[in-house]
This record gives sequence, structure tokens and C-alpha cells, in this order.
Amino acid sequence: MLIPARMSEAEEQRWVTVMLDKLAAQESKRVLGDDELAERAERLSAQYFDGRARPASVRWVTNQNTRWGSCTPSEGSIRLSHRLQGMPEYVVDYVLVHELAHLLVPGHGPRFWRLLEAYPRTERARGYLEGVVAAERLPHVPGARGE
Ligand SMILES: [Zn+2]
Repeated sequence: MLIPARMSEAEEQRWVTVMLDKLAAQESKRVLGDDELAERAERLSAQYFDGRARPASVRWVTNQNTRWGSCTPSEGSIRLSHRLQGMPEYVVDYVLVHELAHLLVPGHGPRFWRLLEAYPRTERARGYLEGVVAAERLPHVPGARGE
């Protein structure tokens, strides 16, 4: 009776490993490539800005750790931080919509935020990103602010 029990434990272990591998594979498949990112931006522009925001390039960058996204309106280029990879779709979409809006309105004045009202999950996505930033700060020793 002991041997089958041990075997099933080993099988269970193997099954867990296989499932975790599958999950990891799905996870990595969910990361959009630069082409898909550009397609997504085009779709979002069509959906929320009547296609008026037309970026020349949209791509992931790994050298952007303090900002989630950036935009150079003169070049029409949009860059998204790789840190967004793996975050919920609505958060990535929010950052894309945000940077697309900068192609139409620079800065963060009332006109800019009025544009962003078109995207229904703006508040939720901003809350999510604020939460991420807050969580990153948690492990620090309270009071150690001179970093
Ligand atoms: Zn902005």
C-alpha cells in the first residue's frame, strides 16, 4: 500500500511540474511583440480617437524604469516600459491610450484628461499602476527616504 501512495505522489509532483511549465508557456505567449503592440495601438486609436492618433512606431523598451510609457510627438514614436509586460490588458491599453493621446495633446492639462475620459478604465488602470508603485516601496525601511 505504501508504494502506490509514493508513486502517486511522484506522479502528482510530475503533473504539477507539467502544469507549471504550461502556465509559464502561456504566460510568455501573452507578451505582445512590437508588431502586435503597433496593431493594438492602431485599434485603440480607431476606437477612442476616431483614428486621429497615428504613431509612426510603437515598441517596448527596457531602459525605462521610472515611466510606464513615453511619447515623442515630433517623431510619432511611442515607447512602453517592459515592466508592463504581464500586467492586465486594460492596464497596457491604458498606457497605450495615454501615449496616443499625447500625439494629439501634449502635456497633462484639462484637454488631455478630457480625451482620456473616452477610455472607460482610465481610473482603474491608474489605480493599478499606483498600487504597483506603492507595493515596490513597501519593503523599504520606514523613514529611509534619502535614497
Ligand atoms: Zn502623459
